[in-house]
Amino acid sequence: MPYEQGPIRPPSEARSLLVRVSRNCPWNRCAFCPVYKGAPFSLRSADEVLADLDAMRDQLGDRYRTAFLQDADPLSTKPAELVRILEGLRRRFPSVQRVTAYARSRSLARLPREDLEGLKAAGLDRVHVGLESGCDAVLGLVSKGVSREQQIRGCREALQAGLELSVYVMPGLGGVELSRAHAEDTATAIAAIGPHFVRLRTTVAMPGTPLHTLQEQGCWRPLSDLATLGELRRFLAGLAGVHTRLESDHVLNLLMELRGDLPRELSDLLALIDGFLAWPLRRQQRYAIARRAGWCMSLTHYEHLGLEGQAEEALLDLETQGRDMEDVLAQLRARTM
Ligand code: SF4
Repeated sequence: MPYEQGPIRPPSEARSLLVRVSRNCPWNRCAFCPVYKGAPFSLRSADEVLADLDAMRDQLGDRYRTAFLQDADPLSTKPAELVRILEGLRRRFPSVQRVTAYARSRSLARLPREDLEGLKAAGLDRVHVGLESGCDAVLGLVSKGVSREQQIRGCREALQAGLELSVYVMPGLGGVELSRAHAEDTATAIAAIGPHFVRLRTTVAMPGTPLHTLQEQGCWRPLSDLATLGELRRFLAGLAGVHTRLESDHVLNLLMELRGDLPRELSDLLALIDGFLAWPLRRQQRYAIARRAGWCMSLTHYEHLGLEGQAEEALLDLETQGRDMEDVLAQLRARTM
């Protein structure tokens, strides 16, 4: 390709024009994150990125409605450089209606308000922040590199500068020991921030990550799918009165139906979780194996495809082989990304 592209973007940016503003991650120490490990961080000059935009315009044409700035923290770029990039992007791609970027809350908290407002004026509409947890013990455990207070401050700065805010929350990140504190403190952090979107991304300790090492050392115990749902219920119950849009758009989530406008749809979402948790264990396992094996994307999809029989056969096979169901589900989850 005559232009650079980074390795990831949020699921909600699947159709976006991807513009690589910086390479890799300036922090790169989050224990759960496999993405940029071993790859050094570097900034790209505005001239380099604008040359990429020219090449993209020639090759792809002006057919994108949305654009996403990569990699992990484009706001590490000097504001004046980023303004040039944003203005150049808007000029070359007039059909683009929304520009978004990942942003670390530390960067948002560090930038003067007028710089954030300048980015907004130059065409940045939304930032995606990896909040992950609002619990200091969890943030410390996974080496997130920010405190709860910094997360809240950075996110509020983005909002006050007029940017739309989408935050990621990671159910299960505190493991068994910190599950309750993670759910409760994350809910109060979300209430203190008031983001436009809360996006769920279930925790999986991917092999090769520090979190996987912590798990092997017995320092972090993962939650089962059912325990994660219980934690999610506690988290959602803590969002009473919060106005936000909840999205479950990550392939690692068990129930993709957990999406809706809060507070209006909160009781429906809690009822959905309660309904699933009230199912007989065998029925829950059938759905979990089908979902984790990638046969379906959601409960609705599972029912539409009529997968009960196929899932029951898979369970019987595993029992014949003497396999432990939780181990099998954990292995399938780790293979999902
Ligand atoms: S989660 Fe984000 S901030 Fe943390 S290491 Fe990965 S890319 Fe960097």
